[in-house]
Amino acid sequence: MSSKDNLQLSQQEQLRYLRQTQLPNFGESGQLRLRQSKVLIIGVGGLGCPAAQYLTAAGIGEITLVDEDQVSLSNLQRQILFSESDIGKNKAQAAKEKLQTNNSDIKIIAFPHKLNPHNAHQLIKRSDLVLDCTDNFHSRYLINDICAHYNKPWVYASVLGFEGQVALINPEHSCFRCLYPELAETPNCNQAGVLGVIPGIVGSMQALLAIDQLANTQISDTSKAANKLQLAQGLSSRSITLAKSQQCKLCSGQKNYLDFWDDYHDPSQGLDLIPNAQKISWADYEKLSAGNTVLIDVRSQAEHSRFNRGGINIPLAQLEDHLIVEKDTQYVFYCESGQRSLSAIASLMQNQTIAKDLAPNIYAITEALKST
Ligand SMILES: [Zn+2]
Repeated sequence: MSSKDNLQLSQQEQLRYLRQTQLPNFGESGQLRLRQSKVLIIGVGGLGCPAAQYLTAAGIGEITLVDEDQVSLSNLQRQILFSESDIGKNKAQAAKEKLQTNNSDIKIIAFPHKLNPHNAHQLIKRSDLVLDCTDNFHSRYLINDICAHYNKPWVYASVLGFEGQVALINPEHSCFRCLYPELAETPNCNQAGVLGVIPGIVGSMQALLAIDQLANTQISDTSKAANKLQLAQGLSSRSITLAKSQQCKLCSGQKNYLDFWDDYHDPSQGLDLIPNAQKISWADYEKLSAGNTVLIDVRSQAEHSRFNRGGINIPLAQLEDHLIVEKDTQYVFYCESGQRSLSAIASLMQNQTIAKDLAPNIYAITEALKST
């Protein structure tokens, strides 16, 4: 049994955390609760950097950092964990190295991949609390729905320009879909700009809400019976209660994460992730074994009846409901230009019914369809 398992603080820890353990409502018991906690930080950008920095310094026992991006020069204006020498490095990895120099007693895990419906379960299930430090609705809905599934509290935050908002969301009381029932296309910081100190403030508020929840210090005045959304605009801020919406399909139990699959995928992304080996020509198709190969035209019925090169017709929008991918069968999609065939693969790869080992059996003909 290591000293970490002991239910008391070491002498070093007593010294390190003295300024917070001497606070009323915190004490050594609050510190021990932080030491036993696992926090998942999704996104190590403008919000994730300050949040991770304060949670590391405060002594959270284990922090997992999720980010697939590399540090770039334009990040340095607000992503304060990074230095010029980090440009080109993975953000989760670079942040871990920097954070660990502040506190070598805690465990920090770098996960250099994008959050997706496949890895979200594992990552969220093993955490006590999740911080949403992303900049898009697709990830936020995914975090919301999986946290609701496992009944995990999470801290939502977003920033834009001179404004920010932050809320601790306890799925028992309400959820992000109660506030935003529909996928909204809002600009992110990359498109609209942000003053660097704003994510600094909002990310620090995320850390405060996380510490309050995990150490049970009751620092915030938020009633534990309701979720509250803090809205910050420049130097002023106000809060509103996030009531459970009667129309919320998630909170009412009408739907769960399996029904919201399309929300998690940004259709403009993912096409470039398809391996070249799965992009084929008509000649390549002829070479594939005919016996266990299914050719599928993903154009509309009207296009299919006008002209086709055989196979069955399942329009792209109906694909996920009508195609069950089976082992030992190869699937080849075709359309007019190759674009819809690629989208068919991208959407199937996002679909949980497609196991990783089946994905290579799916091909897109990227050659234009000739009606001559
Ligand atoms: Zn809800």
